[in-house]
Amino acid sequence: MATLTRTNPLSYLTGQLNDLKAKGTYFRLRVLEDEQAPICHFDGKRVINLASNNYLGLTTHPKLREAALLAIRTYGVGSGAVRTIAGTMKLHMELEEKIARFKKVEASVVFPSGFAANAGTVSAVLGKDDFIISDQLNHASIIDGARLSRAKILVFNHKDLSHAEEQLASVKDQPGKKLLISDGVFSMDGDLGPLPGLCDLAEKYGAIMMVDDAHASGVMGRNGRGTIDHFQVHGRVDIQVGTLSKAIGALGGYVCGTRDLIDFLYHRARPFLFSTSHPPSVAASCIAAFDVLEQEPERVDKLWENTRFWKKELGLIGFDIGGKSTPASETPITPIILGEGKLTMDFSRALFEEGVMGTGIAFPTVPEGKARIRTIMTATHSKEQLERALEVLARVGKRMGILGA
Ligand SMILES: *Cc1c(COP(=O)(O)O)cnc(C)c1O
Repeated sequence: MATLTRTNPLSYLTGQLNDLKAKGTYFRLRVLEDEQAPICHFDGKRVINLASNNYLGLTTHPKLREAALLAIRTYGVGSGAVRTIAGTMKLHMELEEKIARFKKVEASVVFPSGFAANAGTVSAVLGKDDFIISDQLNHASIIDGARLSRAKILVFNHKDLSHAEEQLASVKDQPGKKLLISDGVFSMDGDLGPLPGLCDLAEKYGAIMMVDDAHASGVMGRNGRGTIDHFQVHGRVDIQVGTLSKAIGALGGYVCGTRDLIDFLYHRARPFLFSTSHPPSVAASCIAAFDVLEQEPERVDKLWENTRFWKKELGLIGFDIGGKSTPASETPITPIILGEGKLTMDFSRALFEEGVMGTGIAFPTVPEGKARIRTIMTATHSKEQLERALEVLARVGKRMGILGA
């Protein structure tokens, strides 16, 4: 038999990677060698970590660790099935009841991730004759869910209520259902969705109102209850999504709403039906995390104290931290806008060499020309660490001509 020489059908990927390298936006993964903490080691280098979503330091909280260990000893390391087959454990039900009480809603359901919660929910509740009215900067998981639903997607300009109304009005005589959807906190700029105005519009046009509160969970509102609590729009948001992967410190996503919404998702949300449930240790750590939110409100206070300090100091140094070319941050997410992708990646690498970990984010994660270093404050950064990080940012910023001398 003649030997066929097979050319690699994926060779075009190498070409695309070379394009990224030429543009200067190619990256390698940085590898964390110890705990997710304000001072840690990435790639063998000790750095001040300004890049994690571990807002409250819960990834290493002793109560969460103990809960996880106890669950492993009692129940093992895996759940062994999807929720609808044999993979619903008592801990999963307990966590969902806890979340529902915390968020003051009838019921909640946990998904493998926040991404799966959004994508699975949007695609389950809408179909091809429906309409999704979506903020331009909504998270990728909302966009993917919208595409999977096959509903018609109408995008409105970022936080622009009159444009959102225009979009709603344009389909008000169509028979399909309408879903109005926004992030509670936008993950790249750290600004808030205009929830009271959006709720007004949803009510006026009879639309379903949905909010993705991934970056607000544990950060905004009383004890970290989220933007619905922050804006006091309880009862006006039909579908609330949150994550267990950021401030809560473990992994997962959840949806909150009426008992019937949750029951429906049990039957129709594909990531719930077709992906194995959380290991018991993850469910147990999340349960402990909600206890910590109630018992240690000082963590959220410290997070905001650090956030105020950090924003003030970065502004004084002279960085563009949004508010001009991009929306102004209202949360612990503080972008340092540089604009150009290559400069941003070079700045990020130079900061790393000097012991500061700030991730460079460029197109396609943010629009072309809006590249930035995204910094995130946590409750566990000390003042001394933040002052050191500011010193490095100022020094490297001047050396690279980003700041005036
Ligand atoms: C992080 C994030 C998600 C995804 O959450 P995971 O639990 O990490 O999958 C969804 N929406 C927004 C706005 C996010 O920032």
